[in-house]
Amino acid sequence: MTFENLNLITPILLAIKTKGYTAPTPIQAQAIPIILQGRDLLGCAQTGTGKTAAFAMPILQILHENRKIGRWPKGIKTLIITPTRELAIQIDESFAAYGKGTNLRHTVIFGGVRQHAQVRKLKAGVDILVATPGRLLDLMNPGFVNLSDLKIFTLDEADRMLDMGFLKDVKRIIETCPKKRQTMLFSATLSADVDYLADKYTN
Ligand code: AMP
Repeated sequence: MTFENLNLITPILLAIKTKGYTAPTPIQAQAIPIILQGRDLLGCAQTGTGKTAAFAMPILQILHENRKIGRWPKGIKTLIITPTRELAIQIDESFAAYGKGTNLRHTVIFGGVRQHAQVRKLKAGVDILVATPGRLLDLMNPGFVNLSDLKIFTLDEADRMLDMGFLKDVKRIIETCPKKRQTMLFSATLSADVDYLADKYTN
């Protein structure tokens, strides 16, 4: 299996080359074709398996292709929720690296720092938002984050999120998203709670 076999577009293939990746990892080879078809996904993968690229690359491709044909609205089109600030920063950096040739706007929001700079970036407009649940809700309530244009929702590290007590927050966030959307859940383990989320929120 090669990245070319996965039907990735040139700007993403160039970014992969810059990164020096020679072949897709198993989660990439399995998940990328499903995501590119617009289907929902429950991916079982740990950190370190190349999971971030498995969702970031096809998301970038879908957004890039739709923008080229002028089809998509101006607002936040994809939201990635992850439990910790470190993971959120890493995911945002991955979008920056793999999306270098796409000109899509991305930003990351997390707690423990002042809101001001994050709000300013949101006001400037973003296509891709990476967030931890608490800060996202803090910024959704006063209306700094509007998810009404959202097309793709990704929940990363679902099991860890639930272990950290974020189930209620996650449900509130998902329920604010438009019903017609693509949904992806990634988890290292498949517990009853992860199963519940997959059952309730994916097709
Ligand atoms: P992740 O599981 O997303 O945290 O990724 C773990 C590490 O693997 C990161 O440092 C990525 O840059 C790297 N990586 C992702 N995909 C590949 C690949 N296809 N080949 C080699 N390294 C990769």
